[in-house]
Amino acid sequence: MGRGAGRGPKQLRFRNLLDSLGEAAREVPDLRQATKVSYSLEQCYRSAFALFFVQDPSLLEFQRRFQQQLQQNNLSTVFDVETIPSDTQLRDVLDSHDYTPITTVYKQWVQRLQRSKELERFRFLNGSYLITLDGSEYFNSEAVHCEKCLSRVKSNGRREYHHQVLQAAIVHPERREVLPLAPEFIRVQDGSEKQDCEAAAGVRAIETIRSNHRQIEAVLVADALFATTKLIQTAAKQRFRYIFGVKPGSHKTLFEDVRGFRSAGMLDCLTVTDSVGRRYCYEWACELPLFATADAPVVTYVELSIFDASGKRTRHFSWITDLAVDEHNVAQVVRAARARWKIENENFNTLKNHGYHLEHNFGHGKQYLSEAFFVLNTLAFFMHQIFALVDELYQSARGGFSARREFWNAVRAALRLMLFSSWDHVLERIDGPPLAAP
Ligand SMILES: [Zn+2]
Repeated sequence: MGRGAGRGPKQLRFRNLLDSLGEAAREVPDLRQATKVSYSLEQCYRSAFALFFVQDPSLLEFQRRFQQQLQQNNLSTVFDVETIPSDTQLRDVLDSHDYTPITTVYKQWVQRLQRSKELERFRFLNGSYLITLDGSEYFNSEAVHCEKCLSRVKSNGRREYHHQVLQAAIVHPERREVLPLAPEFIRVQDGSEKQDCEAAAGVRAIETIRSNHRQIEAVLVADALFATTKLIQTAAKQRFRYIFGVKPGSHKTLFEDVRGFRSAGMLDCLTVTDSVGRRYCYEWACELPLFATADAPVVTYVELSIFDASGKRTRHFSWITDLAVDEHNVAQVVRAARARWKIENENFNTLKNHGYHLEHNFGHGKQYLSEAFFVLNTLAFFMHQIFALVDELYQSARGGFSARREFWNAVRAALRLMLFSSWDHVLERIDGPPLAAP
């Protein structure tokens, strides 16, 4: 493959994406006394991003060794870090500074994908995008905590600290890539009950997505915690459509109405049998009140039951939506609803389990560090997703390994053993033939 060909639009190349992070880092107000500053905030954020980009908590240490021995190092050639901060300084600086300006990078990268038409590939329902919203706990500990930690008393009487985040992402049922939007952290002041916390964060998340992406047409996809009057009203006010899960326990009135419709034979239905004899039974009904209150939203109810070849019901799901549902699009609406599992399966599990190990290896801090690291980690993941989408050299290098983990092991090993001139140089080496002994 010719180098430079098939690398995607210029604004989505490594250097350009990294520079937008650098620019955002320059917007973080520096609270340190000028005379005592040895590393700029930008150097610190670039260094921390590099840790997460290659998923290596000991990256700085190895590159300091390069610097001592070769007077050059990969952090400076690949990531444009002028001087490598010490690990302690890096954590102290990030912990004491409000990282908020960094979160503008998500919006910028999505806009670049839009401008270069790459985002088009994510259009799904009537040309709309699907934005999933998922709450997740990304840290818990009895010993380590910071001022942003939530806490709870466990059944054994011990206090446990944790962080929760509501993560939005653009997904497509047929695409592996997931494009994260800015995370919305769930905070102590949001409410005493778990439900209140997630609901308050949900309102903020929906408002933020609209203010960051004023023109985007999207369907919000989320679980039953979102199926409330407040969140449905917020979605409508912000010009989003929605597909939210519902549960018999939290939506009693709705399920009673559905039972009534079913026994009267008034549910619309469609049955599809696949090639292995599995039966997909779709049922829906429109204009049902979600609750027994005067201000309850009027919704369309959609249900899917899956039966195996022997006729046994194996899976069962229920949702509500404000989309118009009929026999021509019900399967598509359900595919959109089930795309939410994509983020649970791929984004968060990848972030948490498959090499994107966060807190335990990288540190927690007292003030901003934990959230700053989460933001940088998700941005690193976002950058990988952009390359998986547009960069043929990345795809080819990554394609040489069956597992993501093995690819990143090779990248880490290469960065520890050799000096590179750029990220492209790293990819070319990994994509190229093995080096013969001299
Ligand atoms: Zn904390």
